[in-house]
Amino acid sequence: MNNKAETAKKGAARVRILGRPVDCLTRDAALGKIMQAWRGKKFFHVVTANAEMIYRSTHDDMLAKVIEEAELVTADGIGVVLASRLLGRPAPERVAGYDLMISCLEQASRQNIPVFFLGARPEVLQKAVAAAVTRFPGLQVAGSRDGYFLPGEEEEVASQVSSRRPGLLLVAMGVPKQEKWISRFGDKLPPCVVMGVGGSFDVLSGKARRAPAWVQKAGLEWLYRIVREPSRLKRAMDLPLFLLAVLAQFLKERR
Ligand code: UDP
Repeated sequence: MNNKAETAKKGAARVRILGRPVDCLTRDAALGKIMQAWRGKKFFHVVTANAEMIYRSTHDDMLAKVIEEAELVTADGIGVVLASRLLGRPAPERVAGYDLMISCLEQASRQNIPVFFLGARPEVLQKAVAAAVTRFPGLQVAGSRDGYFLPGEEEEVASQVSSRRPGLLLVAMGVPKQEKWISRFGDKLPPCVVMGVGGSFDVLSGKARRAPAWVQKAGLEWLYRIVREPSRLKRAMDLPLFLLAVLAQFLKERR
């Protein structure tokens, strides 16, 4: 569906960027949808999509399918926000995975919703869980498991998560590993909110730092991450390719 058709669909506050759907909403509105899913006891997959992920999905069919099927896709990054503006359906703000995760943890602790933490290295995971409990006293931890299990252990991990019946499952194994795990085992999980959160446990644990607020405000967090972790440079090459592809989409839709 292109953006003209998407616009014609009454009430669809979504934009199609390189074929992928992105919901045009604020972090508060995203949290509202998540709370609605908790009330309705529904399975609800949240993808926080950045430019790199959307571009990657143009040549990764499985990733494209997972994004298509997700219940909520937020604009996680200045590139996606700019693309939405250019394509005429502006996302009102960036809804970063880390920020949305923190908002969810806060709500989960208020509403006694058990949280399962899946992903990252064992020592990082342990510190991340401890930091979450310190920050949100009373948070119910349904369980945790690091993200370095063997492919043959995937089923067992899914059974472990499922047996703990979390209401919120945070999966921090990086893109696209986390999305593919969620897609493969989603139907084995109890009704819960599942969110792929990438490197967020690294930040929660204190191992990694987010950019200062002014850098985030200036829309330069991606640059900060490349400077801090030069190994990201190769992945960041997808950013200009993303922007070029969006420009091509814009020109095509204008015709
Ligand atoms: N990770 C994991 N299992 C793996 C590979 C990675 O749990 O097999 C974790 C890794 O330790 C890190 C996170 O996934 O905590 C990936 O972080 P990154 O910032 O690269 O996420 P992305 O940018 O892909 O969202």
